[in-house]
Amino acid sequence: MRVSFKNSSAAKPSVSSVIDLTSQDGFSPGSPGTEAGPRLVLRCRSVSDVVQAMAYAAETGARIVPRGGGHCFVNRCPADGIVVELSGLDRITVDDTGVATIGAGARLGAVYAALHGEGRTIPAGCGDTVGIAGLTLGGGIGILGRQYGLTCDRLVGAQVVLADRSVVECGEHRESELFWALRGAGGGQFGIVTELRFATVPEPSVCRIEGHWPAPQNLVPAWQDWAPDAPDGLTANLTVQTGRTTLFGASTLPPAETEELLRELTARAGVLYAIDLRLDVPYSMVKPTFSVLDPVGGSRRVRSEFFSRTLSDRTTSQLLDQLTGNRRLAFTAMGGAYHRVAEEATAFAHRGERFLLEQVGDPGDPWVDEAWRAAHAEGSGRVYPNFPDLALEDPARAYHADNYPRLAALKNRYDPLRVFDFPQAL
Ligand SMILES: Cc1cc2nc3c(=O)[nH]c(=O)nc-3n(C[C@H](O)[C@H](O)[C@H](O)COP(=O)(O)OP(=O)(O)OC[C@H]3O[C@@H](n4cnc5c(N)ncnc54)[C@H](O)[C@@H]3O)c2cc1C
Repeated sequence: MRVSFKNSSAAKPSVSSVIDLTSQDGFSPGSPGTEAGPRLVLRCRSVSDVVQAMAYAAETGARIVPRGGGHCFVNRCPADGIVVELSGLDRITVDDTGVATIGAGARLGAVYAALHGEGRTIPAGCGDTVGIAGLTLGGGIGILGRQYGLTCDRLVGAQVVLADRSVVECGEHRESELFWALRGAGGGQFGIVTELRFATVPEPSVCRIEGHWPAPQNLVPAWQDWAPDAPDGLTANLTVQTGRTTLFGASTLPPAETEELLRELTARAGVLYAIDLRLDVPYSMVKPTFSVLDPVGGSRRVRSEFFSRTLSDRTTSQLLDQLTGNRRLAFTAMGGAYHRVAEEATAFAHRGERFLLEQVGDPGDPWVDEAWRAAHAEGSGRVYPNFPDLALEDPARAYHADNYPRLAALKNRYDPLRVFDFPQAL
C-alpha cells in the first residue's frame, strides 16, 4: 500500500495531521496538531506501516523522526518533518524462558503491568508514560538498576527498520555491532526499532522508601558518600527543593538491613530518622507512587551531568543557596550493577559514575545554567543520552565518551545518507 493523500482531507497538510496507516482505506485523518508541530504524524501499527512511512518520507524528502512515548526532552522533529508514531506497536508477550518481546510503542506502565502478570519484570525508569524504546535506546536508569543494571543491559535482541528500509533482527550473534549501538547511544540514530526483546528477572517484592526533611542540612554530602556505595539491593535517590528534601527509592534487602542502612545515612547527616518504609510491595506497584513526589508541574528545563566524586562543600552551598521557587536538584545513585559492565561492552559509556545530578527549573530561569556551570566544574563531563541538553559544548564526548569513534563509524555504515538526523545526532 502506498501512502497517498489524494482522497484525503489531509491533502498537502501544512500543519500536523495524523494519518493512520492501517485504517481501512489506507489513511484516515486524525486530529490536527499545532502550528509548531511536525507537518505530519504517521501512525503505524505494523512493521510494514513503518517501511511505508519511511518510503513516503524518502519520496517527499521530508525528515523522519520515530516517536515512542514522546517524552524526549527536546523536539527532534523539524516543523516540516514527519513523525513516525509507534503507539500501535505495543504488544507484550513473555515466553517460557522469561524473554519478553515488547512492541516499540509500549509505555512503561503497560510494560510493568504485563510483566507483573507473569511474575516478571525488567529494571527500568519511573514515568508510567515513558516509552520503552526511547528509554532503552539511551540506557534506562531506575530503582532496580543498581541490582540488575540499565534497561538496555537486559536487552537480548531487537527488530529494526534500517535507513535503506530493510528489516533486520539484531542480537549478540546477529548484526552484533548494531545491537551494541542500540544499547545506550540514544534513540533515533540508526533506524526505527519496532520490537525489543528483554531477558526479564523475577519481579521482587520491595520495601518502599520515602523520607522528608524541611531542609537539606548535611543530607546532600552524606547522601553522596553513602548512596552510590550502598548494597546493590538498595536504591535511594534524593531531591532538594525549597522547604523540602525527599529521599525515595526501594530495597530488595531484608527490612532490618534496609532500616540499618537508612539509619546510617541519617546519622551521617545528623538528621532525624524521618523515613517511612512500606514492606512487601510488588516492584511494579512501587514505581507509579513516586510520580506524586514530583510537585513541579508544567514545562521545565533540565540540565544534568554525571559525577564520579562528591561535590565540594563550596559548590554544594552555592547550589543550595539559590534554591528557590520551582528550582530543584535531583540526585540519582549509580554504582552497583551499572558499574559491572565494561564501558566498551555496550554503547552506554558511563559505567564508573557515582551519581547523576539534574538541575531542574522553569524554562526561562537562568539559575538552571548557573547551577549547572557551578556543578560542572567538579563533574565528569559526561551526560546521560536520555537527558539531551542542547547547550552542551561537546555533545559527542559528553554523551558517548570513548565509544564515540565506534558509534560514528557505525552511523556511517548503517545510515550513510543521514536519513535519521537531528541536532546532536551521531
Ligand atoms: C516524566 C519523565 C520521567 C522519566 N523517568 C526516567 C527514568 O526514571 N529513568 C530514565 O532513565 N529516564 C527517564 N526519563 C527520560 C527518558 O528516558 C527519555 O526522555 C526517553 O528518551 C523517553 O523515551 P520516549 O520513547 O518516551 O520518548 P520519544 O520522544 O518518543 O523518544 C526519545 C528518542 O528516541 C527516539 N525513538 C523513540 N522510539 C524509537 C524507536 N522505536 N526506534 C528508534 N528511535 C526511537 C526518538 O526519535 C527520540 O529521539 C524520564 C522522562 C520523563 C519526561
